Amino acid sequence: MTDRDATTRPADTNAEQVVRYEVRGATAVVTMNRPKYRNAQNSLMTYELDAAFERAVNDNDVHVIVLTGAGDHFSAGHDIGTPGRDVHVPYDRKAVIWWDHTDKAGADARYAREMEVYLGMCRRWREIPKPSIAMVHGACIAGGLMLAWVCDLIVASGDAFFADPVVRMGIPGVEYFAHPWVLGPRFAKEALFTGDRFSAQRAYELGMVNRVVPRAELAETTFALADRIATMPPFGLSLVKRAVNQCEDLMGMRPGMDSTFGLHHVAHAHNAETGTDALAGMNARSMKSAAQSAAAQSAAAPSPPAPTPPARHSSPRHRQRRAREPGSRSAD
Ligand code: ZN
Repeated sequence: MTDRDATTRPADTNAEQVVRYEVRGATAVVTMNRPKYRNAQNSLMTYELDAAFERAVNDNDVHVIVLTGAGDHFSAGHDIGTPGRDVHVPYDRKAVIWWDHTDKAGADARYAREMEVYLGMCRRWREIPKPSIAMVHGACIAGGLMLAWVCDLIVASGDAFFADPVVRMGIPGVEYFAHPWVLGPRFAKEALFTGDRFSAQRAYELGMVNRVVPRAELAETTFALADRIATMPPFGLSLVKRAVNQCEDLMGMRPGMDSTFGLHHVAHAHNAETGTDALAGMNARSMKSAAQSAAAQSAAAPSPPAPTPPARHSSPRHRQRRAREPGSRSAD
């Protein structure tokens, strides 16, 4: 592996280079580059990612694509509050044929935008005819999950963690609703009901990630895997990728996402009708503090009562009641 031939994509028309592109051997490395904001995805990043993927597809010397994040995290999700939030900015649409959202209002605007930059883009990237690997470290939250899931393989470091906490906004999961297919229905419900983080190891046990390695070995492992894949015939790889994706869709993923996208937008619209905005008044800061207080509550909850010798007359039900009284109230 060498980065001798590495090239970096110029920042086009934007001062902030939100996506970096380089080529290492036969692997294109696409790096989300807003580390200050934990790689929160604004529309600019979406279109820069799309341009990077397109560049990789058009380069015959690139056989595999690795997607990663600069800084301490893969991606904390969609941009819901950085200074670079650009929901009001029009871009040339690439993913779906729909009108521009910026001169529309309410659900009309929201549906158009999210179908383009979230669901449509993710579906488009899933169909890239070259194998892709998400190299995940640190936070991979909500919209971050979407990007990891559209990749064919996921290699995670042991410190990676995953969550889709948008139910705190009253929203039934992120726009690219792959949860039941990549997590299994049972754990998908738990992850969504609680919004709790789950570890790389748990994700591995669920079959959501392919490898879990120490952080120091993440890049080496990922690029070694990419190198192995890159020796296979490119057309064969594109066909087998398509074969698996088609079977996944025959298992209902595509129509499932179409139906849940409607539920997602019912939730946005309900929030906007009954509250201050489509996100139920939540922003990055309040989502983080809600997650922290939920984590603190659950850390306090499972502490078992100190063992006490049962009184001779004490029934099991009586003992259970005692255990829930003062001292373990946080368990409720
Ligand atoms: Zn949404």
